[in-house]
Amino acid sequence: MNTTGNGMALPQQARVVIIGGGVAGCSIAYHLAKLGWTDLVLLERARLTSGTTWHAAGLLTTLRDTETQTRLAAYTQQLYRRLQAETGQATGLIECGSIQLALTPDKAEEMRRGYRAAQSWGIECEEIGAGEVQRLWPLAYVGDVQAAFHFPRDGRINPTDVTSALARGARQAGVRIVERCPVTAIEQRGGRVTAVVSELGRIATDLVVNCGGMWAREIGRLAGVDVPLQAAEHYYLVTEPVAAVHPQLPILRDPGRRTYIREEAGKIMVGIFEDVARPWNVERIPPDFAFGEIPPDWDRMQPYLERACERVPLLAHTGVKLLFCGPESFTADHNYLMGEAPNLKGFFIAAGFNSLGILSGGGVGFVMAHWIVDGHAPMDVWSVNVRRAHAWQNNPRYLANRVVETLGIGYQDHWPFRQWASARGVKRSPLHERVAAAGACFGESAGWERPNWYARPGQKPVYEYSWGRQNWFENNAAEHRAVRDAVGLFEQSSFAKLLVQGRDAERALNRIATADCRLPVGRVLYTQFLNPRGGIEADLSITRLTTDRFLVVTAAFTATHVLSWLRDHIDPDCQCVVTDVTDGWCMLNVQGPRSRQLLSSIASGDWSNEGFPFATAREVQLGYWQALAVRLTYVGELGWELYVPVPFAVGVYDMLVEAGAALGLAHCGYHALDSLRIEKAYRDWSHDIGPDDTPLEAGLAFTCAWHKPDGFIGRDALLAARSGPRVRRLVQFLLADPEPMLYHNEPILLEGKRVGLITSGMYAHTLGAAAGLGYVTDQRGVSDELIATGRFEILIGNRAVPARASLRPMYDPGGARVRG
Ligand SMILES: Cc1cc2nc3c(=O)[nH]c(=O)nc-3n(C[C@H](O)[C@H](O)[C@H](O)COP(=O)(O)OP(=O)(O)OC[C@H]3O[C@@H](n4cnc5c(N)ncnc54)[C@H](O)[C@@H]3O)c2cc1C
Repeated sequence: MNTTGNGMALPQQARVVIIGGGVAGCSIAYHLAKLGWTDLVLLERARLTSGTTWHAAGLLTTLRDTETQTRLAAYTQQLYRRLQAETGQATGLIECGSIQLALTPDKAEEMRRGYRAAQSWGIECEEIGAGEVQRLWPLAYVGDVQAAFHFPRDGRINPTDVTSALARGARQAGVRIVERCPVTAIEQRGGRVTAVVSELGRIATDLVVNCGGMWAREIGRLAGVDVPLQAAEHYYLVTEPVAAVHPQLPILRDPGRRTYIREEAGKIMVGIFEDVARPWNVERIPPDFAFGEIPPDWDRMQPYLERACERVPLLAHTGVKLLFCGPESFTADHNYLMGEAPNLKGFFIAAGFNSLGILSGGGVGFVMAHWIVDGHAPMDVWSVNVRRAHAWQNNPRYLANRVVETLGIGYQDHWPFRQWASARGVKRSPLHERVAAAGACFGESAGWERPNWYARPGQKPVYEYSWGRQNWFENNAAEHRAVRDAVGLFEQSSFAKLLVQGRDAERALNRIATADCRLPVGRVLYTQFLNPRGGIEADLSITRLTTDRFLVVTAAFTATHVLSWLRDHIDPDCQCVVTDVTDGWCMLNVQGPRSRQLLSSIASGDWSNEGFPFATAREVQLGYWQALAVRLTYVGELGWELYVPVPFAVGVYDMLVEAGAALGLAHCGYHALDSLRIEKAYRDWSHDIGPDDTPLEAGLAFTCAWHKPDGFIGRDALLAARSGPRVRRLVQFLLADPEPMLYHNEPILLEGKRVGLITSGMYAHTLGAAAGLGYVTDQRGVSDELIATGRFEILIGNRAVPARASLRPMYDPGGARVRG
């Protein structure tokens, strides 16, 4: 044992080593201890809270952008309420409530939709009028308030004290916390972490949690793990004392002015979320920065402070005690980075909290502790899972440019289909210029620029956002109809393509996939990968190319996750390797009743139903070029996916476009893909299906080959569930009114009672109204009859819109068009 500067013994071995003593690290230590894992050491470079935690504003507001963030925040509030009594350490909790203001009808619509979803997640909240805002906040100007929402259980906390309470709770259970102990190296062997080396000694361990805040990226580098986050400057102002304020004043969140305002020990605090933020120390965070501040830039903050004075005019006549600027880490998509690294077993990450680390800290500790102890997260946390990130995102220039936008996004309008404006153009397919010339309006997914919709000649390919029909509604309708009536061309090169190869590739895949992978060469199947609890981890197609080679295709944003899932679950005794070949192949998807006519006019071979049946694949020659043609559809029509080696892509594209002109070929974007697939009730992973949804609930049990000799991962859990009542089922809905739009998270009402939420929605142009998918839950069982005869409505803001419900796709339920 080494003796530390604190006089404490540093053990030579521990079950878990946590790096970083901010709110995240201390909360994880606390929660692991609660689960009985006390043989753990927390190493802090300087003093507890000395990174970002000490200077946080301590807001505890529950309604967040996503369900995961909201649930983490809700748990955190519950924990903080009991922590003081439990540990004896004061936390400074004040349950003063919070108010969110909407200053425009669009913001009111957004917030109304948001608080309706929050109510479904158990958050107490109600809409209030401007008069009530005035009563709760007498100093505020309310003349511009369109709508307001009150969250009576929200509050604030002292971040240093609450972290100390978590640390104390951990210590009381036997956890060792060592301060002034910087970690300098991380050792690994055979793809698994083996030890942590600090300035005070080495600790052997096979579980490490990187809670290094804005240093987490550098700590990741010690282990060869990408942790794509970047620090940015973040501000608040504190006034001199103001007689008229008191601690019970609710937190006043004013997104229209990019500010929040609250009481702070008899003064007023104004927090700022500026539209264009400033990254801090892009190359390297100073290793000795502790309890540090950044000299504030008054000029940059001035416009925001003036706007805060409009909200609370008294501010203009009140002296300023402090304009504080501190660094906080932000990520590329405003979501946290949590979970096990994709490329190093036993190396966990909890960082990148985008200025929400205090209010989600309790939930982060709970989720991470269970993840480590149980081997999986206790709830679906895909939106914060580090495996959604991509190695290339750890590029400093990319992160610096993106966090400029990330910081302020929480306080801006969260339009449906909103696209990032910064750090664009990272990945372009070789067809990029071609589709741009055809009018593509691009969106971004996993760094790829992808056509979302195509502008007409003379129309600018630019989004005009709204909560109703956006400017591309008619473009989408035309693309949609072209696929239903003629033929559409989708440029889908971003799709992840993985080759699974080796003598035992079939055996390996057959154990991981629900479907039977003992296929003849040239056959294609649609399948899921399940976790042992029967939850859906991936949704994909598999094509057998040769006896020992399979092509696995999945959505671009799931590439890292699916690749890691395969590598983690291939039996070590299998001779089988997985290679990501995404960048070597373009994918052109030709869909619609005239696709056969188009392809047979330019490509070799027999394209008839007999000559090229559904769910088969083969090499085809098109002009000088060749491609792998796969007969499959995600839109519910006759169609083929063409996998084209990159050097051939432009040639094949030109040929399709030229030959397609006479057949009414339309360029179609990802929004058309979405409206078509929702109409056909095809599921989308991460929206409609995910790690907490089983194929039984999702209506996908048809992919399960129950009697495969070696079974498949998750089968036992499904078999057990199959014998019980069906209490949760995925249902398709179609609004009775053609006007309102569905996006996601709209509550589903059955006989006036909430029974679920819409998981994805879009305008269904063939059906003539917005359609959506969503789970209906009823402990008495969700029978076919209940779905057929129940009175369903979808709650859109304050309006309950009647809807038709169906377990079968409302468009082409028999699938005749797919097999035509
Ligand atoms: C101005 C401002 C206001 C904010 N207001 C709020 C708010 O109202 N509500 C809210 O929820 N959030 C708020 N935040 C965000 C919140 O402060 C952070 O999200 C949170 O503190 C992050 O906690 P953490 O544990 O991840 O990081 P940190 O607190 O930075 O902890 C990381 C720790 O790792 C240690 N470390 C680094 N490298 C090493 C190493 N090599 N070895 C050992 N230890 C190491 C550091 O010393 C540090 O103590 C605010 C942030 C700012 C800047």
